Amino acid sequence: MSISHIEHIGIAVKNLQDAIPFYENILGLKCYNIEEVKDQKVKTAFFMVGQTKIELLESTDPEGPIGKFIEKKGEGIHHIAFAVKGIEEQLKSIEEKGVTLIDKTPRKGAEGLDIAFLHPKSTIGVLTELCEDKNK
Ligand code: ZN
Repeated sequence: MSISHIEHIGIAVKNLQDAIPFYENILGLKCYNIEEVKDQKVKTAFFMVGQTKIELLESTDPEGPIGKFIEKKGEGIHHIAFAVKGIEEQLKSIEEKGVTLIDKTPRKGAEGLDIAFLHPKSTIGVLTELCEDKNK
């Protein structure tokens, strides 16, 4: 696997309105995009830190993945996303190495990225996402 950098860190929050001021007023980051990803039942807010993003995730449906996560574990780090090249081939090759995939083929995530999640039972408890920006 050739990972170029951490693309983003996904953080589950109860609501963006309450969370954004911490990142802007205390940490001094700028929210540059808010986007709803209907597919994943979330509203996301993005901040840039170097070439890595912080992605805040607010659930739009208690039955969605972030809604369930917050109910079980509360707010906090939800997943880590690594930037890769050739995401389809990467998925194939790690599946051959015995990794369980949530997404066998990439789907569209926020900001037009191709994304795929690996199953936390194969990743020592950390929900791990691979993503590729094919517009670059
Ligand atoms: Zn993500």
